[in-house]
Amino acid sequence: MKLLEYEAKQILSQAGVPIPRSFLVESKKPAPFLPAVIKSQVPVGGRGKAGGVAIVTTPEEFAQAISRIQQLEIKGFLPRRLLGEEVVDIKHEYYLSLIIDKQAAAIVLMAHTDGGIEVEENQANDFLRVVLTAQTISTAGNKLAEYFDLPEQTFALQELAEQLYQCFIQNDALLLEINPLIYTGGDTLVAGDCKMECDDAAAFRHPEWDFEEKQAETNFVTLDEHGEVATIANGAGLAMATVDAVADAGMKPANFLDIGGGANEASVLAAFERIMEYPDIRVIIINIFAGITRCDEIAKAVIAARSRIPDLPPLYIRLAGTNFEQAAQLLSEQHIPTLATLEECIQNAKEAAA
Ligand code: GDP
Ligand code: MN
Repeated sequence: MKLLEYEAKQILSQAGVPIPRSFLVESKKPAPFLPAVIKSQVPVGGRGKAGGVAIVTTPEEFAQAISRIQQLEIKGFLPRRLLGEEVVDIKHEYYLSLIIDKQAAAIVLMAHTDGGIEVEENQANDFLRVVLTAQTISTAGNKLAEYFDLPEQTFALQELAEQLYQCFIQNDALLLEINPLIYTGGDTLVAGDCKMECDDAAAFRHPEWDFEEKQAETNFVTLDEHGEVATIANGAGLAMATVDAVADAGMKPANFLDIGGGANEASVLAAFERIMEYPDIRVIIINIFAGITRCDEIAKAVIAARSRIPDLPPLYIRLAGTNFEQAAQLLSEQHIPTLATLEECIQNAKEAAA
């Protein structure tokens, strides 16, 4: 699962990595300090280029920035949270990441002298690449200091490399990227941004994991802002097939949504709220083949959505698999019908949207 920037930075900070002073924005409260950088907390990169990062100096600018960024969709995501951070005086932006190199069966540190928002334009062979092991970690800082040409930061970089390595291992990370690693006007190194992804398969040994992604719809993709049919499915394959079937029937699908195996009432309800942001939705098709997902959780979300969202368009629901009976019972108590096949859902949707 992908962590939001503020979650990843909390982990970094606990490991001793320097991060900017920060606060989570609460829209009705004034900023705890100004000037500040306001940053959209969406689980994708490229926020800077998309307008999701803004420096504000006055309370008015703060208010404007938060109302703008709250509504700014970035790569299909609207933020649920905004992070405020102290403005760092940037002398230079470096790139630093730890990844798993499957071929080398090792954790590899990658670094580039030119970090920041244009990092993907760097040539792949320009990167410093260091295979990290319990042995090589002790020299990683030296290599970084030499490569960055920051000899006076050797000690800080050595500490940083060790802290990141520990963070990576202890959190079963798949990716830990700091871009930019900021070299400040005060000659210190600060993690300006952090992207972190942890291995879902390791969740069983991390009872402390309580990241927002579990509540967020991570595989939500906008296909057409003005689509007329919204879809909710589980599993990427079924979600794709559902979208295709809608399009084959001559209707315009608005989104792709795979609610994933760990979907619960809250995450599905969040998906409904997201769907309601599309202006032209006429119907919603729900196609669930439940394995790990439980039909009764979906049913509860459907019922909650119907009571909380007055303008909810007609729902055409096909459920099968785990806890189907409980779901059917819950839905029938609320007089919400289910259909046996996706074909029937599409047929009904077509008639309703006509
Ligand atoms: P991303 O675009 O999603 O990777 O978001 P980042 O957090 O990396 O921010 C993008 C860019 O905004 C950075 O590369 C910086 O150039 C700029 N930025 C972010 N925070 C600060 C700050 O505190 N001070 C200044 N001057 N620029 C900042
Ligand atoms: Mn960044």
